Order: sequence, then structure tokens, then C-alpha cells
Amino acid sequence: MSKFFKRTKILATIGPATNTKEMIEDIIMAGVNGCRLNCSHGSNEERDQQIKWIREAAKKKGKSVAILQDLQGPKIRLGVIKDNRLELKEGDEIILESKEFEYDGGLTIPVQYNLAEKVKIGEPLSMFDGKIKAEIIDIVSETAIKAKILNDGFVMSKKGINLPDTDFGGDILTPKDLADVEYGANCDYDYVSLSFVQTANDILKLKQLLLSYGSRAKVIAKIETKKAISSEQNLEAIVKASDGIMVARGDMAVEAGAEVVPIVQRKLIALCREHAKLCIVATQMLSSMVENPEPTRAEVSDISTAVVQGTDAVMLSDETAVGKYPLETVKEMKKVILFTQNHSRVATINKLPTSEEFEIYNAISNATARLAEEIEADAIICQTASGATSFAMAAERPNLPILTVTSNQKVANQLALIYANSAFCRPYSEEFGLDLVKELKTSGYLQTKDGQKDLLVVLVSGDKDKFGTDTIKVRNV
Ligand code: PEP
Repeated sequence: MSKFFKRTKILATIGPATNTKEMIEDIIMAGVNGCRLNCSHGSNEERDQQIKWIREAAKKKGKSVAILQDLQGPKIRLGVIKDNRLELKEGDEIILESKEFEYDGGLTIPVQYNLAEKVKIGEPLSMFDGKIKAEIIDIVSETAIKAKILNDGFVMSKKGINLPDTDFGGDILTPKDLADVEYGANCDYDYVSLSFVQTANDILKLKQLLLSYGSRAKVIAKIETKKAISSEQNLEAIVKASDGIMVARGDMAVEAGAEVVPIVQRKLIALCREHAKLCIVATQMLSSMVENPEPTRAEVSDISTAVVQGTDAVMLSDETAVGKYPLETVKEMKKVILFTQNHSRVATINKLPTSEEFEIYNAISNATARLAEEIEADAIICQTASGATSFAMAAERPNLPILTVTSNQKVANQLALIYANSAFCRPYSEEFGLDLVKELKTSGYLQTKDGQKDLLVVLVSGDKDKFGTDTIKVRNV
């Protein structure tokens, strides 16, 4: 049907390569459904400007776009290194000092976080995406620790530090995160993601904080620590506490080993589908395109695999933030998604979507998906106030588009990242789902199958003040 519709969504990180009104408009036109604004880089003023450009571009294209504020969490970074390079040798003993001091280029190195408060002697530490490995051998003061270097190499300014075995004791929101949450609560963010989540409690704390500022943003747990994936129970508890998760494959590989990443990815996608939560697969999806106009075969295969596994969204990081070919990257990703969805169904999972909270939604969604596929409908139409019906519908991974209509623009923006959803904001009326289909048919956005006059749609609706989602209708439009 029609010019429809990639079902797996694209989340693109905004950075210097895309930091203009024109580029943001171009990537949204090319297929981006959500933009990630990374609090690890840039200023509030830059992000305010980016939000404005994204909203303008979305309005121009008539499409809902999600904006995600990515909190740095305890992503600990080195400070500024003299001449931006420090050679290290196996056996060197370095001091990581969080107090301000005049750095002379020696082995006492500035760090942006007080490690002495959290680490224990004997714990491993790595720097620069795992290129330098070290072991903590002493806590030398209230603000400094000593570590022994285990391999030759070098570090540069602001490179990240990983502490895979350090327990942050339920205190992962740093002073910077707290300031970013407070500022961001008054910005037009649809999602807030938290880095280095260890337990469900980290997410519950962030949710409480957002609520206290009156924010309606949904919360995403970035899964990247060894602790988060340490047990099935912990991982599932994080998924259930969150509105969605990001498979943050970059830091996960450093913390837990690259070999664990594909298995955790598969497990997380299945868990999110089971609990009707948003799943985003992130990092290095097309990283060769940071420098080259063509992807590698392995990258194409990686995107295709994530699509078949049934992720809601795939993410671009450096590719659109600092790459030489941001627009080409988005187009390539869209091409792979469309080809994959047109040639392969999303794989089934062992468990059907379940939720104690949304039992009826799940049953209705399951029936709707089966009905729509059986009668070869052109689309499923969801009328929703909170978006819950569309989340539940998407969790079924139907092999056809879901058109959502809601009278809440924030809900429409949030649904922009959800599998198969195209969400539209319209004033509420009992028939606003059917009215939307008529409007989209007239505008040519929806087209009938060859030789057919009408669109066949399955409509799911309800009244949240009565029984919630309780009605399935089949209509020719
Ligand atoms: C990652 O580590 O994969 C990730 C998404 O984190 P970030 O890009 O924020 O460092």
C-alpha cells in the first residue's frame, strides 16, 4: 500500500554534522523518526535550538518526531590531557585526581568524577573504550585513587573510564544529570534516557524526579553495565520499571565483553516485546559510514538482524553526529529496513506479550493483529489517549502499518519510535480514527491496493473513562 512505511524506526544522534536547520530537516525527510540530544556534549542553548529546529521540521513534514534527552549518568571521563595525548606503559602507576590542580603532563591525571567515593581496591578500571586496562591498587586521598596500568597504550583528553565491577550503590545520577533533568523538564523532550543503569531502582528514582518537575517524558534505561545484565531477574526488573530500553552496545562491550552483546541484544528485544516496552538497538550500526559513503556487508547484516529480531528502533550515533555522510547513512539504514521487512517477517518470540496492568489491551491487540492479517487489511488504526493501546498493538509486531490517532501531541511524538506506528494528533471525536483514514486517503498519503477502490482497515478503540480499549471494528473506507 502507498508510499508506506518502514516499520522499524530510526533514531539519529544530533551533533556537529547535523547541527543546522537544513540538515535536521533533510534527515527527517530521509526517514529519521527520532532525534537523540546527548547531554555528554554541547550546551543547553545548543539543545534548545535543536529542539526548535526538530519541531519545525516535523511540522513541515506533517510527521511526529520523538526527541530524546540522553543523560550522561556516571560516564566518568578524564579531564584535559596536556597536548591531548599521554603515553602509558604496562606497570605504570597512575593517580586519578578529581580535585582541581595544575596538570603537568605526568602520571597524576585529572578526572571529572570523585572515584575515591565509589571504588574498591582490586577492582578493574579501563579507559578509552577499553584500550587501556588497569587495576585499582590504592585510595590515596578523599579525592584520588591509584591504578596500575596492565598494557601499553595511550589516552587522550575527555576519554571515558569504565568500572565494570564498581557498585554505585543506587546513586548513579550525578550532579550534572540532576542539573540536566531539572533544565530538561521544561524543554520539549518526549523521552529521557539514563546511562549506566544498574538496577530498576535507578529508573524509579529518575521517574520520581521527572514527576516532581512535572515532566511527562518517558524513561529509557540504557543497558550497558555488567551489573544490569548480571542476572535475568535484574534485567527483567529494569525492563519492567522503564518505558523502554536502549541496547547500548558500545559501553556494554567494554564493560562485559563484546561477545556478550549479540545474546543480550536478542534477550532484550524479546523482553521488550513481552512487556510492550520500546526497544532501541544502538551503536556502530553503520560506523564505517562515518568515513565512507558505503556500508560494510556486516553492518547491513547487523541492521537486518535487529529488524528481524523485532526491535522498535535502530540508532545512529557518530554516523549522524560527526560523520562525513549523515544523510547517506539515514538513507542506507532506511533501505535496509524496507528490504528486510518486505522479505522477512519479524521472528516470533516464545512468550506472548503479557502485562498484569494491561491484560485486556494485550488480549485485544493480539486479536486485532490476527484479524487484520487474516483479512489482509491495509492498516490497523488505533484511537488512543495515553498511547497504551498503540504500545500493546506494536508489541504484537503485526506485519502491517499501525496508524495511531490521539489528541495529545506528546503521545504522538512518543509513538514515533514505536514499531510500525505512524501517529497523528487530532482533536478528539468518537470517529477520529476513521476520519483520519479518510483524510489520509484523500491526500494520497494512503493509497488503495491495485484494482481496489477502498481501504480495508481494522480499528481499535475504547473509552478510557469506561472500559479502556474494548472495541474492534472492520471498515472499508
Ligand atoms: C553505547 O555505549 O552504546 C551508547 C549508546 O552510549 P553513548 O553513545 O551515550 O556513549
